[in-house]
Amino acid sequence: MRTILNLQSVRGEFVNRIETISGQSLLACNQCGKCSAGCPVAFSMDILPNQVIRMAQLGMEDVLQAKTIWTCAACLTCVSRCPKGIDLPRVMEALRQIYLEEFGNVLTTDQIVPEQTEELPQLALIGSFRKYSF
Ligand code: SF4
Ligand code: SF4
Repeated sequence: MRTILNLQSVRGEFVNRIETISGQSLLACNQCGKCSAGCPVAFSMDILPNQVIRMAQLGMEDVLQAKTIWTCAACLTCVSRCPKGIDLPRVMEALRQIYLEEFGNVLTTDQIVPEQTEELPQLALIGSFRKYSF
C-alpha cells in the first residue's frame, strides 16, 4: 500500500511556523543568490540573506541567533531581484518574531538612559521598539 506522507509533519514545526507567519513558501527558493548579491547591508551581516533562507528551509533553529535577522533593513531590494517572488524581509520578520517569542525582548525601556531620550529622534525610538520588542 502506498504511504502518503504528511508534508507538514515531515518538514517540521519550525519551518511551518516561519511559513505561517511570513506567508512565504521557503521551498520556492532555489538558492540563486541574487538577494545576497544586491543587498546593500550584506557587508554588515554575519550570514548572507540566501543563507538565512537556506537554514530556514532546513529547519535549522540556529538561524535565530544570526545577527542578519536584525541587520536586515527591510529595504525590499531583494524582493525586486528574486526570480521566485519570495518576500525575504517577511521571512526575516517572522524569524525576529519567533526569536522574541522564544527568548524575550532584545530592547527594553530601562536600557535607555533619560539623556538619550532627549537626543534620540522619536521615530528611531518607536521604530526600535517595534523591531526589538514583542
Ligand atoms: S533571490 Fe530568491 S530564489 Fe534567489 S536565493 Fe534569494 S530568496 Fe532564494
Ligand atoms: S530587505 Fe533586507 S535582506 Fe533584502 S536587500 Fe534589503 S536589507 Fe538585504
